[in-house]
Amino acid sequence: MTSPITTGQIGTVYLVGAGPGDPDMLTLRAARLVMQAKLVVHDGLVDPAILAMAPAGARFVSVAKQRNHHTLPQEAINALLVREALAGNDVVRLKGGDPFIFGRGGEEAESCRAAGVPVHIVPGISAANGAAAAAQIPLTHRDSASIVSFVAGQCKGLAEQDWAGLAGKGRTLVIYMGVKTAPQIAEKLMADGLTPDVPVAVVENAARASMRVLRGPLAGLPDLVTRERVKSPALIIIGEVTAREDATLAALALEAAE
Ligand code: SAH
Repeated sequence: MTSPITTGQIGTVYLVGAGPGDPDMLTLRAARLVMQAKLVVHDGLVDPAILAMAPAGARFVSVAKQRNHHTLPQEAINALLVREALAGNDVVRLKGGDPFIFGRGGEEAESCRAAGVPVHIVPGISAANGAAAAAQIPLTHRDSASIVSFVAGQCKGLAEQDWAGLAGKGRTLVIYMGVKTAPQIAEKLMADGLTPDVPVAVVENAARASMRVLRGPLAGLPDLVTRERVKSPALIIIGEVTAREDATLAALALEAAE
């Protein structure tokens, strides 16, 4: 890396989890940082209502995917954070959910440390926790599941990922980024020995006003996603906890009340 010209003090980078959407789900620390931010670097999953909490005059840099444009490559985001901090600016790097769950926060933190830039991590409510709460699906339950795993459904070599034992009796599997690959996911899990009738829930736009909770058996997952035109962001939750009668009734009651 070329040696940068620094002007006075180095800024600090805050990798801040913005939670699943609703500003109510920010931690107090995250809210304070956003409300004092001079520079906010954010990705597409961050709700506009959260960005609106920044003070007037704050600078915003979006690294989100835009129509016909690709997301800024990760290296360019890392470089941007480092460059701004070395120029003396504190950076609030806002990410959906938690920065360290499928958020590439680890890579950004490494880049900062390598450049001698102080970096702080502010945890956020990950989509799994937000979806579980909003849909009243307990991720663990003494009668249904004592193991919970988070996996990425869209990653390099999905077929080679070893998910054996992550789903099934007594386990809950939460799949991030799995909408597009739902058919391969269902196939993979059944090849691993899951029965076609294992209950599944798809939670779209969890913890937002537009949330939808769809349920069905594992074998019907691809069809459910297509028929209901499920769009990202959505989580797929696999396991008995998604079919607990009390939770299903609570969800129906909520829907009816709307
Ligand atoms: N760091 C984030 C995850 C980023 S990966 C976190 O901790 O939540 C992006 C994926 O997260 C999406 O494809 C989707 O699977 C999930 N996701 C994020 N926000 C969501 C929401 N409000 N509802 C459902 N899924 C969500």
